[in-house]
Amino acid sequence: MYQAPLPVEYAALTPEEVDLRIRAAKAALGSALVILGHHYQRDEIIAHADYRGDSYKLCKDANRHPEAKFIVFCGVHFMAESADILTPDSMQVILPNLAAGCSMADMANHFQVKSCWKQLSAVTDSSKVTPVTYINSAANLKSFVGEHGGTVCTSTNAPAAVQWALDRGEKMLFFPDQHLGRNSGVKLGFNPEKDMALWDPFKPLGGNTPEKIAASKFILWKGHCSVHKRFTLEQIATARRNDPEVNILVHPECPLEVVQASDFNGSTEFIINKVRDSAPGSSWAIGTEINLVSRLAKEEPTKRITCLDSQICPCATMYRIHPSFLCWVLEELVAGRPMNVIKVPEETAQFARLALDRMLQIS
Ligand code: SF4
Repeated sequence: MYQAPLPVEYAALTPEEVDLRIRAAKAALGSALVILGHHYQRDEIIAHADYRGDSYKLCKDANRHPEAKFIVFCGVHFMAESADILTPDSMQVILPNLAAGCSMADMANHFQVKSCWKQLSAVTDSSKVTPVTYINSAANLKSFVGEHGGTVCTSTNAPAAVQWALDRGEKMLFFPDQHLGRNSGVKLGFNPEKDMALWDPFKPLGGNTPEKIAASKFILWKGHCSVHKRFTLEQIATARRNDPEVNILVHPECPLEVVQASDFNGSTEFIINKVRDSAPGSSWAIGTEINLVSRLAKEEPTKRITCLDSQICPCATMYRIHPSFLCWVLEELVAGRPMNVIKVPEETAQFARLALDRMLQIS
C-alpha cells in the first residue's frame, strides 16, 4: 500500500500544535475512538494511547470497546491487520502511516511460502509438517497457516506453540523469524545443529539437501528482526565489564548466542514486568528496541537501565508513525473521512482468524 505525502499544513505545525490538535480530535471523537500504542512507539505517540502493549495484548485491548467505531493502531501494518481480523466488522482499523511495515514480516511472502511448501512436499510428507508463523507476518501467511492446520505464535507463547506443532506432526515449518524459532526449540531441549534446517527462500530446497530436510524437526525460515539482530556477545561482555552487578535481559528475536549469554530472555511484556518487579538499585542492560528501554528508564528511576547497544537501535518502521500522521488521520475522522483503513479480505481473514484463535488457546 502506498502512503501519499501528508498535506502540507501538517508539515508546518509545531510539536505543541500537533499535540493540541490530536487532543481536540480525540475529545471530539469520544467513545467512538480507541487509540492503541505499541511499546516501540515514541513518547509523543504513547501520550495519546488509550492502551499500550505488544501486538498480542493490543489486539485483545481492541476488543474491550465494542462501542468503538475506529481503532487507530499506532504500530505496524501486520498488527493493524490482526486487529481487523479479530474485531467486529462494525469497527474500522486505521494505520496512521501506511509505510509503517515490518522488515521482518517482509522477509516471507505468500508466494515464497507456497513455493517452500511445494518443495517440502516433494521430499517429505507435508501432512506431517505443521506450519507456525510468528504474529509478525502478513495476513495471507496467517491464512496459509490456518488452512494447513498450523498456528500463529507470539514471542510469549512461541515455545508452547512449537511444542503444540511438534505434537501434531513430525516437523514444523517456522517463519519468518529464524531466531525466535531456534531459541524456542533450544528452550525445549532440541539441538540447533542436528534438529534444525535453515530455509533460504532464494535457493532451491532452501539451500538444503533432501537428507537434511528428512533429518530435521525444524525448518526455520531465514528471516530476522533488523533491530534485535544488532545485539552481540561483545555488547554483553562490555556491559558486564562496566557493571559486574548488571542483569542482561534480551528479547528472543536476538540470535541464539546472545540469548544463551543473557541472564533472562522473554517477550516485550516479560521484559517490562521483569524490570518493574525488580529491586530498587538493580541494574539492567536490555537488548530490545530503544523507545521501550528509554521509557522504562524514565518510569523506573530507582533502577539503572541502559540499552545493550550503545549506538541506539530504534525500529525504523515503527518510527514512521509520526504525531503529524496521527493528527491527520484523527482530524479526517472528525470530518467523516476515514483514511488508511486496513481491511483484510474475508477469504483471507477466515483462515487467519482460525490460526489466531489457535494462538489464543496455546499458552
Ligand atoms: S522491531 Fe523488528 S520485528 Fe518489531 S516491527 Fe520493528 S522490524 Fe519488525
